[in-house]
Amino acid sequence: MSNSATPRQAAFPTSEGWTLGDITVRRVDEVELPRQTGPWLLPHATKEVLDEARWLRPDFADAEVPRLASHSFAVEAGGLRIVVDTGIGNDKPRANPAWNGLDTDVPARLAAAGFPPESVDLVITTHLHTDHVGWNTRLVGEDWVPTFPGARYLTSRTEWDHWAATELDEARAQMFRDSVHPVRDAGQYDLVDVPEHGHEVAPGVVLVPAPGHTPGQVAVELRGSGRRALITGDSIHHPVQLSHPHVHSCVDIDPAQAVRTRARLLDTVADTGALLLGTHFPRPTAGTVLREDGRYRLLAEPGVALPATTLPATAV
Ligand SMILES: [Zn+2]
Repeated sequence: MSNSATPRQAAFPTSEGWTLGDITVRRVDEVELPRQTGPWLLPHATKEVLDEARWLRPDFADAEVPRLASHSFAVEAGGLRIVVDTGIGNDKPRANPAWNGLDTDVPARLAAAGFPPESVDLVITTHLHTDHVGWNTRLVGEDWVPTFPGARYLTSRTEWDHWAATELDEARAQMFRDSVHPVRDAGQYDLVDVPEHGHEVAPGVVLVPAPGHTPGQVAVELRGSGRRALITGDSIHHPVQLSHPHVHSCVDIDPAQAVRTRARLLDTVADTGALLLGTHFPRPTAGTVLREDGRYRLLAEPGVALPATTLPATAV
């Protein structure tokens, strides 16, 4: 083999994304999650359940289990560079072997998309779970420092207050120590009140309540001039939950509320042409939602190769 480059690295400097008129959103890959993640996270998404939604294969499930991935979304809106969720992160001590001590090139991938970390204006945290705050910080010497030094980091006040009032086990305390508190201590975390109708944090970028998985989780609606999109966070972990909304994840704090949230969000996007962007959906990650026989299905819509953004940097 004369060429050792992986397909992903070979894809630089273009990145895959979707254009919504005046808003662009790109997927920035971190890792595909190992095969055992599906049965652990979604224990009710059995082979029989997957068999009932044939459209899930081959992209979203293999013969037996759902596939899942970790990535961020890099959004260009209103002249701002916005990163939605920051994945698992590098060098983090984690009990889950799939998350422990990762060594990925996410900052280089962001830069290749035209989002070098120092240029990012906003970082939106859909909720305060380990696999959504990882790249909030990076290790410099023995210190965790904000990866995005010029950014405001946003999360919902309800989410923040929930965890502040919760007695944390050691694993979660570690996560807050290495990925959340350094950002707070740098004065970069802003808490947002998110009412029922949503809170616009940048032109066309609206946080909407998505409680259940966690009490203060938000989804992110992108209201582009040409099209609307919805970034799920963990309100929808996997497309199987379109055909089987009762399939909830083992880490939903309030599964019944999570089912209601999923139903509400799917109702707002179904049959509208809006793009659903799944925070853990493996490639092609996105699609439109169709109603079918009293359920939903995802009509996959792969992104297209987009050149790096040429937006002038404003954060630094
Ligand atoms: Zn997650």
